Amino acid sequence: MSYLISVMVHTPAHSGIGGALSYSSVTPMPAGTLVRVPLGARELLGVVWDPAENDTDISLRPVSHALEGVEPLTPSWRQLVQFAAHYYQRSVGEVALAALPNQLRELSAEQWTRRLKRTVKADTPSERDTPQIPQATPEQSEVLAQIATQPGPFLLFGNTGSGKTEVYLRAAHEVLTRHANAQVLVMVPEINLTPQLEARFRARFAPVWGESCLVTLHSGLTPAQRLNHWLAAHKGQARIVLGTRMAVFASMPGLQLIVVDEEHDPSYKQQEGARYSARDLAVYRGQLEKAKVILGSATPSLESWHHSRPATDTEPAGRYLRLHMPSRVGHGALPLVRRVDMNRQPYKTVFSSHLLDAMRERITRGEQILVLLNRRGYAPVLHCTDCGWKSECPHCSAYRVFHKLDRTLRCHHCGFTQAVPRACPSCGNQDISPLGRGTEQLEEHLGELLCDVRRTDGQALRIARIDADSTRLKGELERQLAEVHAGAVDILVGTQMIAKGHDFRRVTLVAALNPDGALFSSDFRAPERLFSLLMQAAGRAGRDAHMSTAHACEMWLQSFYPQHPLFEALKQHDYPAFALQQLQERQEANLPPFSFQALVRAEARSQQAAQDFLSAARDAGAAWAEAALVDIYPAVPMAIQRVANIERAQMLLECSSRKALQGFLNQWQVQLLTLRGQHKHVVRWAIDVDPLAI
Ligand code: ADP
Ligand code: ZN
Ligand code: ZN
Repeated sequence: MSYLISVMVHTPAHSGIGGALSYSSVTPMPAGTLVRVPLGARELLGVVWDPAENDTDISLRPVSHALEGVEPLTPSWRQLVQFAAHYYQRSVGEVALAALPNQLRELSAEQWTRRLKRTVKADTPSERDTPQIPQATPEQSEVLAQIATQPGPFLLFGNTGSGKTEVYLRAAHEVLTRHANAQVLVMVPEINLTPQLEARFRARFAPVWGESCLVTLHSGLTPAQRLNHWLAAHKGQARIVLGTRMAVFASMPGLQLIVVDEEHDPSYKQQEGARYSARDLAVYRGQLEKAKVILGSATPSLESWHHSRPATDTEPAGRYLRLHMPSRVGHGALPLVRRVDMNRQPYKTVFSSHLLDAMRERITRGEQILVLLNRRGYAPVLHCTDCGWKSECPHCSAYRVFHKLDRTLRCHHCGFTQAVPRACPSCGNQDISPLGRGTEQLEEHLGELLCDVRRTDGQALRIARIDADSTRLKGELERQLAEVHAGAVDILVGTQMIAKGHDFRRVTLVAALNPDGALFSSDFRAPERLFSLLMQAAGRAGRDAHMSTAHACEMWLQSFYPQHPLFEALKQHDYPAFALQQLQERQEANLPPFSFQALVRAEARSQQAAQDFLSAARDAGAAWAEAALVDIYPAVPMAIQRVANIERAQMLLECSSRKALQGFLNQWQVQLLTLRGQHKHVVRWAIDVDPLAI
């Protein structure tokens, strides 16, 4: 008597079947069991996917062995993986195996046995003091009552400093005390950027359930740490898992609450392999496992904002429940937003004189300054500083992007391309320039401008820069942040990295230089990202109640479009107004969340080859697409057209129904596989469902 065992192993990304392989076993292995199976000459880690069946096929190779000492993965976990693979158009094997720690795959049977023998550290009672738990504010109490009684999912819309983290802590506490096996998953965009959050969870829960009640899951762990943390979550020893997007796949048999902090953050979207949105999967997983889901943000994604719309006379409410916490805890006032009209500044001004004066004043008072230069993800726009001309596309309501490599202006919507004009087409001014300037240049320039300023201790001014370049070395970011916290730095210049969750107590002035690029980006999500970045940055100021009196904190914006509605809304700290205006625009243009998108990207040795493949795919799917009401746009070069000598092209798909788009993609992907075989020059291709950048 033997059993047929279906096993999911790591299969190539687009393996059309994506199905499980068949093996035999003399014992029936339950679905979810981790096993090693032979494949060719190798032995692979796999997951038993379906219940065992009686087997008569004697030709099947036997399963090598089941991994000792690990409980099977739950049906919900397998369902989550299966859904993610299906939705994001990847193979189940790829998603399943990528969600497991590498060491499960790598350790030999002997190593694994040794690893298991290592006695699990007994939970040492924590020597920490019982935490001081503040009295909940009325807003927090109201929100917590809703979370306790309503099914959710919830969108917790609360200002920076409104006490969202305290809500997460209390909601987690409630769940963890109610059931001895309950587990809580807390997701953050980037752990390094928010060390305070982990500290607060530890301080609250370690005194009650021991230090090992919380584990982290993120890409900064060593393989051994990742395995340990994964096992702790899988066995239920860790009651709380705090992690980045990968944590959405953590095996947590007792999962009852999922928190997605800063839910608007683009880093929840995986940008390679299976391009999943951890936020969206969290909502799916919550539904699947009957776990409550809290999405929190001061500037929610427009998708979540739309999904949490209240009912109107004619329309039912969205499927999320919006919870609002408008006030800042304590008396930390939001900073006063001041706009500098750069049209009135001398030509080529980088820092207006008013801003420089304000900075001088702050420094002599011993306060700190953040200077934010927002360049991430925004291709620059060409612009005439004389007459205000901008590189508009004549065929679209969009701006053409300046491509430096071949000096062209190019529209990412329709592909219309022209050489960069020698002079402004509108006034003849020869100095048309891309908006934007690098942080490094800025740091240097600022040093020169403020060389006469002294700190309160009489020493020379200290300027530091934090961006992807300055923090490449491991530990460098932490070191630099510590210096800022210690007050050793007066001015911190940086990219969006400095705008995220840090708690800079002594910062009283935040300046954003040149935020204009995003206003005219060809990416329809650019304004949304800019608004949230600036709101987050503004939230860095005035966190220390002792320093902030009504007018103590300021956010300065230098812009050529100071009257732009985005900046108006920012000045009022009015996210709902901004969201309303943006959603109206999106609705008129039929953009997400009012439609659903997917991108197909192809990479090849030549642009022509990449586009040929996409065009062939478009033709092949044309009839189905039409039937499913899916629009397929023509293939265009990607914004960054060439990377490492590979040409990249993309093609946008749009549909008003998520389901119809899904159905179409599932069918079409099989055709793409066949086509790929005929287009030998294509290096790789991928589908990005719900892409964040177009
Ligand atoms: P958010 O996560 O919304 O930015 P936090 O939860 O970090 O807000 O709260 C901001 C500050 O207010 C923190 O220093 C926190 O300790 C404090 N705080 C939060 N809730 C309360 C409360 N109910 N009573 C007193 N202080 C609170
Ligand atoms: Zn001009
Ligand atoms: Zn165009």
